[in-house]
Amino acid sequence: MSYDPANIFARILRGELPAHVVEETEHTLTFMDIMPKADGHALVIPKEDAPNIFDISDDALQKLITQVKRVAKASLQAYPGNGVRVIQLNGSEAGQSVFHLHFHIIPSADGMNFGFHGGASADDSSLADHARRLKEALATLE
Ligand code: AMP
Repeated sequence: MSYDPANIFARILRGELPAHVVEETEHTLTFMDIMPKADGHALVIPKEDAPNIFDISDDALQKLITQVKRVAKASLQAYPGNGVRVIQLNGSEAGQSVFHLHFHIIPSADGMNFGFHGGASADDSSLADHARRLKEALATLE
């Protein structure tokens, strides 16, 4: 699949759109999902231009999944009493809506049920608060 450099996450990576950034590494960016499915819903994306899991290089994917694990660990710590859903969609048929590869990290309480799309946007102060909570948990990890 071809990569459209005008997609929203590419624009966030270039600093053209704002985001509540949780952590930036050499190869990844983690920020809060603007329409969270639960408090603390974060997205982890690679800096490499790839629309989906099939088109990213193995090297970049390995770095990305290592960061996904790190953020999932922080999520468990920041939202005690929750499990964590790690979700990644490929293709519009699968429900993907932004065509820059991303992993969803979603704190999830037992039995919680949600439709994946169509939620409301969170307000800025709530997103900033949850970004801070995840940052604090990340700071305690190696
Ligand atoms: P997917 O359906 O897996 O492609 O998920 C795309 C996600 O991006 C959705 O959960 C949206 O809420 C989220 N999203 C869209 N625009 C933004 C944005 N500007 N900042 C943060 N998250 C966004």
